[in-house]
Amino acid sequence: MKKIDIASLVKPNIRSLRAYEASEIPCRVKLDANESPYLPYSVQRIVYSVQKKFQTLNRYPDPEAKSLRKLIAKEFKVKPENILQGNGSDELIYYLITTFGGPVLYPVPTFSMYGIISQALGEKRVEIPLDKEFDIDIEKTIKAIKTLKPKIIFLSSPNNPTGNCFSPVRILKVIEFTSSRITHYASLVVVDEAYQPFSNEKSFLPLLKKYKNLVILKTLSKIGLAGLRTGFMIADSEIIKEVNKVRLPFNLNSLSQGIAIEALKNKKLIQSHINLIISERKRLFNEMNKMKDIEPYPSDANFILFKTKNSNRIYKGLLQKGILVRNMKGIIDGCLRVTVGTIEENKVFLGALKKCLR
Ligand code: PMP
Repeated sequence: MKKIDIASLVKPNIRSLRAYEASEIPCRVKLDANESPYLPYSVQRIVYSVQKKFQTLNRYPDPEAKSLRKLIAKEFKVKPENILQGNGSDELIYYLITTFGGPVLYPVPTFSMYGIISQALGEKRVEIPLDKEFDIDIEKTIKAIKTLKPKIIFLSSPNNPTGNCFSPVRILKVIEFTSSRITHYASLVVVDEAYQPFSNEKSFLPLLKKYKNLVILKTLSKIGLAGLRTGFMIADSEIIKEVNKVRLPFNLNSLSQGIAIEALKNKKLIQSHINLIISERKRLFNEMNKMKDIEPYPSDANFILFKTKNSNRIYKGLLQKGILVRNMKGIIDGCLRVTVGTIEENKVFLGALKKCLR
């Protein structure tokens, strides 16, 4: 076979791109990916209720996910035309940047996909470092909006990986500044509320009526359904219409649509799991806070970022004991991120962490 240099055929922006790291590392206690440790249904009951979907898998799914969008619309008190379904909210980030283009502005550190997708699509990235409190640096952000005129601004609140919510006043300032019709600085502001269910801060949803440039991202991934790959964007119908043009026709498969509908009917169960995760987060934080050489950062999400001496050694030590957390090396040096697990998993984690510190 003749040798051909594939890399030379790849677009330069893709060649220099580093793929999202989502490697499957074998472990006993998996606390690295901000998933929920709880299933929001009994498997038997869900199989029974989505049986019809299994019987029609020879057919394409509903391209518009009508029933699911209707249910979500009711839940969030908006209309189905304000909702677009995604194969995870990741896909919607892709669609938003495809539709509106760049520059794409976001604070750093934050969810890496804003940058990866921007680069994949050849769009300019504007990264503004967070301030010392991990909050939006509002002066630098407004200055960057004025000079670089981004088309989209992504604000993950609570933010991944820092865990905190940004100050609502600062988020509002960004929305206000980019919302006026006469301003030269018009931009979409996407508030990514993937972790909002775990937070005391209110959702920005009620502001959709006032600000046409506001987009809210939601996902089922953090509340027990990461494997379904189901997320939503909620926005003005004009935005939804435009983004819908780039959506792949059958992006949400039949089983995901069916299971999401059934699971979402049991709101009480989902909420009880969220409450459990919040109370375990408090316990984890307090226990970690007592440990010498561990500095956990307060969190509004289902994970805790913590600083430790020799974080690489601790990461490896935990892994040797079967516990997988996320090493933030290169993103926030000296830090690890642990997802809140079940009571038992958290106990195992705390015990192992103590041993690693010795
Ligand atoms: N936004 C944020 C802030 C996230 O942390 C994640 C997942 N890590 C996502 C969006 C993507 O979620 P999904 O594609 O699973 O809906």
